[in-house]
Amino acid sequence: MRAAWFTEPGRIGVKDLPEPEVVDPTDVVVDILFAGICGSDLWTFRGLVPHGEGGIGHEFVGRVREVGRDVATLRPGDVVIAPFLFSDGECEECRRGLQPLCEHAGIWGKDWDGAQAESIRVPYADATLVRLPWREEEIDADLARRLIPLCDVFATGTHGVVLAGVESGETVAVIGDGAVGVSAAMAAVRAGAAQVLVLGEQPDRLKVAEAAGARTLLVSREESPVEAVRELLDGRLPDRVVECVGMQAAFDTALDVVRPAGSVGFVGVPHGVRQIAPMRLFGRQVRLAGGVAPARHYLPGLIDDVVNGRLDPSPLVDRVHRIDDIAEGYAEMDRGSALKAILRMS
Ligand SMILES: [Zn+2]
Repeated sequence: MRAAWFTEPGRIGVKDLPEPEVVDPTDVVVDILFAGICGSDLWTFRGLVPHGEGGIGHEFVGRVREVGRDVATLRPGDVVIAPFLFSDGECEECRRGLQPLCEHAGIWGKDWDGAQAESIRVPYADATLVRLPWREEEIDADLARRLIPLCDVFATGTHGVVLAGVESGETVAVIGDGAVGVSAAMAAVRAGAAQVLVLGEQPDRLKVAEAAGARTLLVSREESPVEAVRELLDGRLPDRVVECVGMQAAFDTALDVVRPAGSVGFVGVPHGVRQIAPMRLFGRQVRLAGGVAPARHYLPGLIDDVVNGRLDPSPLVDRVHRIDDIAEGYAEMDRGSALKAILRMS
């Protein structure tokens, strides 16, 4: 089978690899129909996150080919979606819906084979995969554009909204206009926010957020956006802020713009965030919470909303490629000409 292969920063290609097989009795093998390229894959691509030569990618929808003898809920032919990390489903953290804290958890393409591939071996399959209500023939590019964001970016945006404690009728600011930021804006609307304001640096991406019902503010790293935010929100500051970048400047902005006694959820993986002075929280009674999204926990509810037409994250995906064009997919996202690319694998 063919799979994306990362060799060194800036270089991604396609390699022939042995077909995966069931090894443990709780495994299944999935033939992948569509896979996603995630913004976090770009950190690897750019050499900012260490990654040895090997497979990459952690978002996929596929069809079960083979099941281990202890797999109870899946059968060959089932169409499934995977969260970006697998987990055992049995421990206390999994039962609490905090699968990233499972001691057996791992991320595809980092702790396991990559998911930008024609097939993949899935451990703890009953706990990890979620069966979809469509037949294989129904999974076309349009449907895949609605589903692949649920594997990671939309679940992560949702988690940011949950961590920030967004409630119906509140005003929410989102820091960041990447796929996670736009997802957080959509998730805040889905959670009933009365007003959502996305702060970002790229006009094209802000347009996607606007189409999803958010207001937007073009910001620059040089000046504080607090006064502009206050002006846009009729003299008030947002009740909740979702930080979706992970850089020091974004944290600073999040803590500057949140209202006194407001709260900030952060889901941008912190990169080089030096410090957050406790007095900045203490002095204004601000709550701050962050963490890796339990995508597996959110998937059933998100899938239901896609099925019922209440949720359509497809505007997040603006490119569909074959695996042979994977280098182009990475390059487009790297230079910002694509928000998110998915790969048709079969
Ligand atoms: Zn667990």
